[in-house]
Amino acid sequence: MSNSDYLCPVCGEGNLHAHVGKNPVEYKGRATELELHFSLCDACGSEQADAGQTRTNKRLMNAFKKRADGLLTGVEVRGLRERLGLSQAEAAQIFGGGPVAFSKYETDDVVQSEAMDKLLRLAVGLPAALELLRHRAGVDRVIAGEEWHAAGNWHPAALGARSVSGPVRLISSSTPCGEQEARYAA
Ligand SMILES: [Zn+2]
Repeated sequence: MSNSDYLCPVCGEGNLHAHVGKNPVEYKGRATELELHFSLCDACGSEQADAGQTRTNKRLMNAFKKRADGLLTGVEVRGLRERLGLSQAEAAQIFGGGPVAFSKYETDDVVQSEAMDKLLRLAVGLPAALELLRHRAGVDRVIAGEEWHAAGNWHPAALGARSVSGPVRLISSSTPCGEQEARYAA
């Protein structure tokens, strides 16, 4: 992307040329030097950033903040989502945050909340948690030869002390629900 053909709005005579400078920043006691994207006028020497450059600078700063706060960076969120085999839309349906949340997390337009960060790590570390969230969101995965079945009158008490809140469903490979329940209740 080059701005070299843009007329400088400050002096109205020179042309703007894209530059990448250095941007020393500090956040929570951590200092670093980020890239600073801006344009320089070849006549009046004024420096200015257009919307695209401002967005790029903001993304770089957000990525630095995420690292400083111990949160997943945009690249890491993307890698994690892809590891889970989810589209951005599916991830938002399952984990929340709104329809374009993951696009914003992954480009570092937005810093995800600490709660969202923990939820994503939990989903990766505990497949059963992901399956439960996925099912509640109605984003079912079809595993070869397996289907979801409604648990019907199945009750957690049948499994002993384990308590589960909300609707619970069982995965069965091919056995009808009735047999499945009988096996759990035995
Ligand atoms: Zn100028």
